[in-house]
Amino acid sequence: MSMALFDRVALIGIGLIGSSLARVLRRDSPDTVIVACARRAETLEAVRRLGIADETTDDPAAAVAGADLVVLATPLSAYAEIGRRIAPALREGAIVTDVGSVKGAAIRDLLPLMPFHAHFVPGHPVAGTEHSGPDSGFAELFRDRWCILTPLPQTSPEAVAKVTALWEGAGMRVVTMAADHHDKVLAVTSHLPHLIAYTIVGTATDLGHDLQSEVVAFSAGGFRDFTRIAASDPVMWRDIFLSNREAVLELLQRFSEDLTALQRAIRRGEGDTLEQRFAQTRAIRRSIIEAKQA
Ligand code: NAP
Repeated sequence: MSMALFDRVALIGIGLIGSSLARVLRRDSPDTVIVACARRAETLEAVRRLGIADETTDDPAAAVAGADLVVLATPLSAYAEIGRRIAPALREGAIVTDVGSVKGAAIRDLLPLMPFHAHFVPGHPVAGTEHSGPDSGFAELFRDRWCILTPLPQTSPEAVAKVTALWEGAGMRVVTMAADHHDKVLAVTSHLPHLIAYTIVGTATDLGHDLQSEVVAFSAGGFRDFTRIAASDPVMWRDIFLSNREAVLELLQRFSEDLTALQRAIRRGEGDTLEQRFAQTRAIRRSIIEAKQA
């Protein structure tokens, strides 16, 4: 990453994503002053222990004062309140970006609050794990993953170029698209799979106690992979589903039609239908591996 890209970076929210970015900045841009902001004292204490920020504060307005880059990395439901608090404190020419998983809602909540002298570049580094908090971050999280930026027509191209350089420096491939397109794509690739995982693990939990212990014992049969996804942060995922309601509901409709078709094939003993579908899905897995996104 270019040493001169940003002098002072405020990370509002310093969990998995915020702290991973802090580690990248620490590694590649040692002269950049990093200010970390979180609500809880124990989070800020962890940041100090990890040595991944120069300054810590629980006040978003104080955090952004003088920053040339502000990165929002909190759950989506906190955006409007944080936006209200930081707006009056943003310096002339400050770039504000975010990492939220739903872009329409991020723009809806933040854009109206941004002062004319600041540049808002909505973004989503599509990289993560099921872990949360500053201890779970690592600099390599972003390597070879995609970062999607959803700038608005009026967004300054220079600001977009700088945010692009930031994520490229973290090892990401950066692409831009419209926010509503992003939200539809992510509903398919991320949101629906999480909803299915939450449902399956929930159903198993609702089963009787004896069966439950067997579910854990024999989890390698497929269930285990779902439990990893279903261990993802409850607040973050609550916010994602509420923020991307329309795209998720539309997709669920399609999904339940396809599920019904498979259900019918099983009931009627239509082995060819099942085999054909499973062969198609196996090919998709192979293409993901070939694209090095496995
Ligand atoms: P995380 O590990 O849970 O960290 C969240 C951070 O936000 C914490 O520092 C937390 O501070 C702070 N925070 C929470 N609620 C807040 C509030 N109401 N006001 C101010 N600060 C608040 O979360 P994460 O996984 O890094 O996710 C952060 C964002 O990245 C989310 O918007 C998510 O959609 C997006 N994202 C996540 C992933 C992923 O896989 N995890 C991937 C891509 C994008 P305290 O500890 O003090 O509460």
